[in-house]
Amino acid sequence: MARAVFLDRDGTLIENVPYLSDPSAVRLSASGGEALRRLRSLGFLLVVVTNQSGIARGFFDETALPEIHGRVAELLSLEGVSVDAFYHCPHGPSEEGFPGCQCRKPAPGMGIRASEELGIDLRRSWMIGDAPCDYEFAVNCGCRFVLVRTGRGKETEREISAFPAVREDEKSGTMFFVAEDLRAAAGIIEQAESGFSAERGGFSLIDPS
Ligand SMILES: [Mg+2]
Ligand SMILES: [Zn+2]
Repeated sequence: MARAVFLDRDGTLIENVPYLSDPSAVRLSASGGEALRRLRSLGFLLVVVTNQSGIARGFFDETALPEIHGRVAELLSLEGVSVDAFYHCPHGPSEEGFPGCQCRKPAPGMGIRASEELGIDLRRSWMIGDAPCDYEFAVNCGCRFVLVRTGRGKETEREISAFPAVREDEKSGTMFFVAEDLRAAAGIIEQAESGFSAERGGFSLIDPS
């Protein structure tokens, strides 16, 4: 089975533009191309998983997304790399009264769908993101997680280290790493993967503080 690195889009793979609907406003994160080339060279599939509640909110039409993701793909191809799939949730948050769904992160729906469609072993996969829902998505999918300090990552770092669940995971040894940016995240994954083959799972948590 394949291994994947799941990538949050806004604030992780590309610069965060709230409710981005204009392809010309897409900017890759600094070092994004280099990071993805590195992850690709480690044999990972690259899968974007993004919450796009702007669709449910009526801020833009779902048909705008292929153009935006086409622009992301175009910028990545200029960097010599591509992603294997884009998955998005078009729904709104149930806590704001939108109908519930199985795909809005932190629900694991997009990860499960990707694992079925692309043959991904979630337990041997990773998630990189900048928000608490990305971390919870990783936990719900059984992936390892790297928080990036881009987008809203620094704020998340403060919030997440106070999560009771994270303290639990610390005890159980679930991996939670913090990286300055996507390039550093790729470095952590590379390091952890080489440690994995050497030690068969002897990971330690990198304290977010
Ligand atoms: Mg994000
Ligand atoms: Zn959804």
